[in-house]
Amino acid sequence: MSKGQDGAGLHPDTLALHAAFRKDASTNALAVPIYQTTSYQFDDTAHAASLFGLEKSGNIYTRITNPTTSVLEERITALEGGVGAVALSSGQAASAFSLQNLARSGDNVVSSTDLYGGTWNLFANGMKDLGIEVRFVDPISPENFRTASDSRTRAYYGETLANPKLRPFPIRDVSRIGDELGIPLIMDNTAAPLLCRPFDLGAHIIVYSLTKYIGGHGTSIGGMLVDSGRFDWSKQGGRFPTLNEPDANYHGTIFSEAVRELGPIAYILRARVVLLRDFGSALSPFNSFLFLQGLETLPLRMNRICANAQVIAEFLREHPKVSRVVYPGLETGKAREQALSVLSGGFGGLIGFELTGGIDAGRCFIDALKLVCHVANIGDSKTLAIHPASTTQSQLSPAARLSSGVSDGYVRLSVGIEHVDDILADIGQALSACGG
Ligand code: PLP
Repeated sequence: MSKGQDGAGLHPDTLALHAAFRKDASTNALAVPIYQTTSYQFDDTAHAASLFGLEKSGNIYTRITNPTTSVLEERITALEGGVGAVALSSGQAASAFSLQNLARSGDNVVSSTDLYGGTWNLFANGMKDLGIEVRFVDPISPENFRTASDSRTRAYYGETLANPKLRPFPIRDVSRIGDELGIPLIMDNTAAPLLCRPFDLGAHIIVYSLTKYIGGHGTSIGGMLVDSGRFDWSKQGGRFPTLNEPDANYHGTIFSEAVRELGPIAYILRARVVLLRDFGSALSPFNSFLFLQGLETLPLRMNRICANAQVIAEFLREHPKVSRVVYPGLETGKAREQALSVLSGGFGGLIGFELTGGIDAGRCFIDALKLVCHVANIGDSKTLAIHPASTTQSQLSPAARLSSGVSDGYVRLSVGIEHVDDILADIGQALSACGG
């Protein structure tokens, strides 16, 4: 690898194509090969022992590392300005591991209320079953994070641009509180890759669902954890026993000490050699290859998606059958300043809007769409729409639905890269077809 391809001085557009791989060492292949192998032959018993003892780095078994997946991990590490990453089989696995790497039964995490529904359920119920309490607070007041913290608080958690409110998370303010109290901030940046670099704003760990914008083509489920290396775990000794005390999961290793020679990678190393090894949520090499393909065009797609979304949000704002549009790029005054303090280069591809005709108009609108696809996903190259009140939030009572930010006539769009005039024409005809 030549100088600069580790991230020094190159633009994200270039890193997305070149970081961490120049050519295959054995074949000179220019594309990253798919190493579809479960295991790797050891040179001899001494070599095997040194790999198991973490004295040498190298591949043992694809559940733990794989050369194709390593390029994906290193490329995203370079894009985020971190020190290491672990690819996982889904975004859900990444959210779960991000907490489990720090919190045990009896511990707690303070999380934003504004979360993807699957994460909310994992935190409110799944983590509770494991004895980990997740305390939900409204990020509108960052001080809520301080108030909810105590000596067993192991992390703060937020989403950069969470549905349906699409209010950019106050990363700087919450990470500042965390820095004062010795608590790291984990950010799910799924909805804003490249638009937000959470480490630059003070976050310590990033969670991704690769399934969305990074994959970009609706073909693969995957997730990733990225470590900034900026949190000094050993300084907060008692707060982080998983990293500062002998770990029975790994023959008594104290991770913050074991990495002295390797750099500040205690968190991400433990996520791999304990959580990924034991719970096994490994990404397949083939999916890593597809995510690498997606990553190559991510900068171009994000530009186009943001430009399209801005035009569509402005169109919806002026439409008589639309009573409200939620899109950070429409904000003015202080709200715009806040959005700009978190996002740069665009306001993302998610738009929420409310039809004046309520639930019937919402259903009718979705059924009348001809180009825009009706799916429960975001971040595809194709424009996607869903009516949460009749699908994802249909099992909630009307009151609970409203408090989650979803009214009866609310529609969510995930804007794609089609020609904007074609998207506008489809949305326009669907609005005309429905009452309200
Ligand atoms: N985080 C966010 C913000 C999401 O939108 C999603 C999925 O929709 C996830 C995490 C979970 O990712 P996955 O579906 O890859 O498990």
